[in-house]
Amino acid sequence: MNDAIEILSIPVQNVSMREATDFVFQCIEEGRAASIATANAEMLIKAREDEELARILQDADMVVPDGAGVLWAAEQQGKCFKERVAGVDLACSLMEAGAAKGTKVYFFGGAPGIAELAAANMEKVVGKLSVAGIHSGFFTAEEEKNIIEDIRNSGTQILFVALGVPKQEKWISKHRYELGPCVCMGVGGTFDVLAGKVCRAPAWMQKHRLEWLFRLYKEPSRALRMLALPKFVAAVKFGKNSGAR
Ligand code: UDP
Repeated sequence: MNDAIEILSIPVQNVSMREATDFVFQCIEEGRAASIATANAEMLIKAREDEELARILQDADMVVPDGAGVLWAAEQQGKCFKERVAGVDLACSLMEAGAAKGTKVYFFGGAPGIAELAAANMEKVVGKLSVAGIHSGFFTAEEEKNIIEDIRNSGTQILFVALGVPKQEKWISKHRYELGPCVCMGVGGTFDVLAGKVCRAPAWMQKHRLEWLFRLYKEPSRALRMLALPKFVAAVKFGKNSGAR
């Protein structure tokens, strides 16, 4: 793995989209279980307040720089990530490469019907996916046992988990050794985007690091959650040491 840049005590890998994708397929070739997280300002602020989440992120096999805030935070240390590796883009890159290689992918999470729609829409773009299974993110304890068995027995190689932060990271951490040797990635609202239920910001807004403004405009109900952004800026700027908790 490449060098990491520590942002608020979490080592975030300085990888390009290509390198992140290659890392996943290298784990699959080696038959190695691995966990991937996608760091943005909201997640890193949560990790400051939630020791379990912080530990999980510190132990993850790869944390990618998902949010523009993470790129900015590195710049405050005089460092620079190669590029932004947004979770939704990495998931698409993995599906594209996976479709070509016949990699078994499992979609777990989202409201009922959303993951199915996400998979069907992706197939229109990347061609036939080898779908190992699909399950919504709302389940009983009994269903959870079946989901875990299903993931293991289907020979899933990439598991996308869309339960929101920190639920998905904690779920992956708790169950990763029951799932067989698959690469697990927490993908948050990715299925909602791929299903066409949530729009992404236009490219120019992403380029100018204004995705947060677009989300606030589209989903004003997220305003409270977005208080994490000024908290993040303050923690990076005025924390005794932005690498320390
Ligand atoms: N979700 C789920 N089960 C839960 C809670 C949430 O499947 O118990 C899904 C929800 O339907 C949504 C995703 O998790 O698709 C969370 O999306 P959000 O954009 O909030 O992700 P985050 O910002 O936390 O990455």
